[in-house]
Amino acid sequence: MTDCIFCKMVSGEIQPDKVMETEDVLAFRDLNPQAPTHILIIPKKHISTINDLTDEDVSVMGKLHLAAKEIAAQEGFSEPGYRTVMNCNADGGQAVYHIHLHLLGGRAMGWPPG
Ligand code: AMP
Ligand code: ZN
Repeated sequence: MTDCIFCKMVSGEIQPDKVMETEDVLAFRDLNPQAPTHILIIPKKHISTINDLTDEDVSVMGKLHLAAKEIAAQEGFSEPGYRTVMNCNADGGQAVYHIHLHLLGGRAMGWPPG
């Protein structure tokens, strides 16, 4: 997708503050962090929303979560805990239409979310 900001990060046209890259997944620091550590983990494949997932995407969705686990350990908050969130469409609060798993850590999270 040529006009997708996260696809531009995958292609290298925009350079994010990268924390992890594998064959299928890219992770980088959020520009507007909502916690002491706020990282976005994306599939390299463009998928607009959770509603667009197909059976083909089962593996990469698991890989997003495995990346979250590894990054949480790297960042040092596995044990106290952390939050992962994936927003869908307007009511879910989605602003960028290339799915991304938010990884938030470094403080206690509230529940319910806003
Ligand atoms: P969502 O509201 O779930 O779609 O989340 C989009 C996230 O992308 C927000 O937390 C933004 O701060 C973040 N974001 C938008 N543009 C960039 C960028 N260029 N680099 C890093 N994070 C970004
Ligand atoms: Zn994209």
